[in-house]
Amino acid sequence: MTILYTAQWVIPVAGVPIQDGAVAVQDGKILTLGPESEVRARLARFGNLETVALGNAAICPGFVNVHAHLELTALRGRLEDLSFFDWIRTLTDLRGAWMQAEDLELSAQWGVVEAIRAGITTLADTETSGAGFRALCAGGLRGIAYQEVFGPDPMQAKKSLAGLKRRIEAQRPAETDLVRLGVSPHAVYSVSALLFRLVIEYAERQGLPVAIHCAESQAEDDFLRTGQGPFAEFLRSRGIGWTPPRVSAIRYLSDLNVLRVKPLLIHAVRATEEDIGLLTFHGARVAHCPKSNAKFGHGIAPVSRMRQRGVRVGLGTDSVASNNVCDLLDEGRFAQLLSRATQGDGQMLPAAALLQWMTLDGACVLGLDDQIGTLEVGKDADLVGISLVGPHLEPVYDPVATVTTAATGRDVVLTVVKGRVVYDGKRVLTLDEEQLRDRLRALAGRLHPSLASIR
Ligand SMILES: [Zn+2]
Repeated sequence: MTILYTAQWVIPVAGVPIQDGAVAVQDGKILTLGPESEVRARLARFGNLETVALGNAAICPGFVNVHAHLELTALRGRLEDLSFFDWIRTLTDLRGAWMQAEDLELSAQWGVVEAIRAGITTLADTETSGAGFRALCAGGLRGIAYQEVFGPDPMQAKKSLAGLKRRIEAQRPAETDLVRLGVSPHAVYSVSALLFRLVIEYAERQGLPVAIHCAESQAEDDFLRTGQGPFAEFLRSRGIGWTPPRVSAIRYLSDLNVLRVKPLLIHAVRATEEDIGLLTFHGARVAHCPKSNAKFGHGIAPVSRMRQRGVRVGLGTDSVASNNVCDLLDEGRFAQLLSRATQGDGQMLPAAALLQWMTLDGACVLGLDDQIGTLEVGKDADLVGISLVGPHLEPVYDPVATVTTAATGRDVVLTVVKGRVVYDGKRVLTLDEEQLRDRLRALAGRLHPSLASIR
């Protein structure tokens, strides 16, 4: 069966927008694309042709979200206006004491519903429970589920590694073509140097991709440069010794020889020129999460400079407990406006470059650009339809500009992953939204009074 998706505009990212365009999909791959009349003529010999006509809409490659925490979706709006340290502590307490395994599964599945409805077709998740991995598989998304490991006490490093290995080994048989596992030593203040070394060696042996939260906050900088601040105090209160290396987080990871595996560094807000040189040298990648960074008051990552110097940077939403939406159109627009505001350059990241950042550049960061990221013959059919109808969208002079400057995830009317329709503009077809919503509301009711007691 060949399916023909038609729309007023097809935006391949790999080429110029096509008016009255069509994308033909067969066996999960893009068979051909172009003006509808030409595509139909090419496909005349295919008898069994089904057409999905989106009308006044744009078809684009699916969006690639390089950083999220699906299992935290149920905490959206429950951790507002806290300091970063209190946010992490309250989150850890809540998750540990009040969210059972089935709550994390529910939370992650609701996060997948949100992502699918926003046209995200690939999502790199960072998680403690495996719920994100299972939700990506169940929802039909493509992604990487980085399994987090914590352990600031070097005495516990071997035990922490053993726990991580058990989790990876238990989940590996469930990996699919679309959803792979990775590992994530959490951050420099929550993982000892020994645990970093052990996890990186393990990742190398197993061929697992690595993600690390890095250079995010002033508190993290203080921890490394002076051995002061809330993270250092936390370690001291637990009797864990800490000698600060007196370098930046990226330099510290480089000195530990962690950057050799080209990890995905999440945030990199505080990257210096020297740090950017290290990222370029080692080929490390960066997940830029501008809304989360702004919300915590952490600052703005120097992504323009990183991109100039050849660092691969993708866009991530981070968790909705700190964003508060999983919407890459919203995130990309915020990133563009921040760059323009801070660089004093109103021509920075024009519409086509921004759309590429949300799609192909994200795919590059995750090493998936040979499969997805553009609409090209032979690539996997990961595509979205975005409505161009609505008072906030019309008139449309340039569909790429309309999509990047005015549309949000809520304008998405179709989400397809490897040829499978997971959202048809009415409902998510892979998960039971109604049942999940009812259960989520019940969970929120349980989390509300408990939160007050923890705070
Ligand atoms: Zn994160």
